[in-house]
Parts: sequence; structure tokens; C-alpha cells
Amino acid sequence: MSNALPHVLISEVGPRDGLQSVKATMALPHKLAWVSALHAAGLREIEVGSFVPARLLPQLADTADVVRHALGLPGLTVMALVPNLKGAQAAFDAGVHKITLPVSASEAHSLANVRKTCAQMVDEVRAVVALRNAVAPHIQVEAGVSTAFGCTLQGHVPEAHVLDLAEALAKAGVDDIGLSDTTGMANPAAVRRLFKGLQSAVGEKAGAAHLHNTRGLGLANCLAAFDVGVRTFDSSQAGLGGCPYAPGASGNVVTEDLVFMFEAMGVDTGVDLDKLMTARGALKQGLPDEPLYGMVPDAGLPANFTPHVRPLRKSP
Ligand code: ZN
Repeated sequence: MSNALPHVLISEVGPRDGLQSVKATMALPHKLAWVSALHAAGLREIEVGSFVPARLLPQLADTADVVRHALGLPGLTVMALVPNLKGAQAAFDAGVHKITLPVSASEAHSLANVRKTCAQMVDEVRAVVALRNAVAPHIQVEAGVSTAFGCTLQGHVPEAHVLDLAEALAKAGVDDIGLSDTTGMANPAAVRRLFKGLQSAVGEKAGAAHLHNTRGLGLANCLAAFDVGVRTFDSSQAGLGGCPYAPGASGNVVTEDLVFMFEAMGVDTGVDLDKLMTARGALKQGLPDEPLYGMVPDAGLPANFTPHVRPLRKSP
């Protein structure tokens, strides 16, 4: 057994998932300053925007400019969300390192969101992979299964269906497959079960946990995922974007709280909590009227807090 500190990758999604959920548009210079501050705090994967038509998401119309800036930050994996082949082409042109494609496990959610059935979305993903293989084989393609734990439109989403979909996406050639609790309906038992199922279904391609804090279970769900071997976690600084269905609740898991949990339990995130608070200031400057969430930012760090304390070594 290695004595190396266990570590996780925190994938910051605030500049995409957060900014797309707020009405106000953050001005480009503020976005660039925020992304730089997140990078300075030690975040090494940032979803900087999304390649969707500007009329649908005017808040993210300048994603190509954010990508250009982010590509200059050393060691950073620059990621963007794309909903379809056209978006993928734009993302490849912009030079991202990695794209993520949302594929809904709920037929109702899929039809409402992208006007495609789940099966049609798998076809779209296959076309994106073919394009990637042809023009940009170095770019990573992730599929994120949204509404994997339940759907506000459809209600129950059968776990067998989620796993069948994950298998179909693996066969379509994506590099990794994550699970998203888009509607904040997951619980730790479901998270354990579904991520274990994902590992059995797609092996090495089992990817990130994208969990929400809508009903206060965000960190508990992240810990459950960690316990069954998940090592990449999506979260959003200040839980930006909130949750339209639950006033006062953050949508995405709050990066500050997630980093604190892992560091306090001896898991290395590579993120400096003080500098993460500096990045929070940059976010506040860019969106002064938006509520910012987070228990750790509200309470402050405990006195004498030492990040990633080495866990007690087991005797051989
Ligand atoms: Zn989210």
C-alpha cells in the first residue's frame, strides 16, 4: 500500500454552471479575473463556459474569449460544455482541452432540454466523437449523465436505465462518463449504488460526480461517492446559481465547503483555501448583487486549521 496522500480533482464549474443560472451577465474582464483567481487558488480543471447559441444563453456568449485566456494558465485543463455537434466544432476551434456533453437519463428532461430522445443524444455523442477523432484526437470527451438520480419532470429515473445509457455512451467512444444529480434528488445510499454500478458497467471510463446541494445532502453525497472510489468532483464557487426550486439553497455543491471537507479529512485537493477566498472576492466583484453560498466562508476556518493533515498510517 502506498503512503501517498489520497487526492481528488475538484473540477470547478462555476463559470459555466453558475453563470448560466443567474440572470445577470458577468462582464468579460471580471470573468477572466475570476478564472485566473480560481487557477491561482490551485484549481486545475475549470469548466469555463459553454458553446451554445448566444440567444439561448447570452451570459456565456463570450466563452471563446474566456477559453483563449484560460489556455494561458499553466497546468489548467480548460473545459467547456457542448450540447451538440455544432457546439463541439466551436469548442474544438477555440482550442479547449476537454468537452463535456450532457446526456439526460430522463426522456422527458431530454426532450424538454435539447428536443432529442436519449437514443438520439447517444447518436449525437457518437458524431461528436467521430469529429474529435478526425480533427482533434488529443481533446478529451466526457459525457455527463444528467438527472441520473431523479427528474422533476419525469420523477423516478430507473437505475438500470442510467447504467444502460452509460454503457451506450462508453460504446459511442467517450473517454469518461460522469453522473449528475441535476435536480438535487440524490442521497448517499443511491450515490454509492449508482457509482458502483457505473464502475461495473464502464470500468475505467467511470468519471466525475456532479452533485447538488438543493436539499442539503451535497457534501454527504460527495463523501459517499469518495468512499466508493470516485476521485473527480464537480463543484461551484459560492454554490453560484442557487436553485430556482429551493430559495436560499445553493444548487451546485459549494467548492469552498467541499475543499474544506476533503482537506480536513486528510485528502489532498491541491487547493489553497485562503486563495480560494480571494477568488470568491473576484466573483463578488463581477456579480455584486448575486447571493453567495457556503458554510465555511460564513463561519471561517477553525483556529489552527492545517490543510491535508497526513492520516495515521496503518501498520503493515
Ligand atoms: Zn450543476
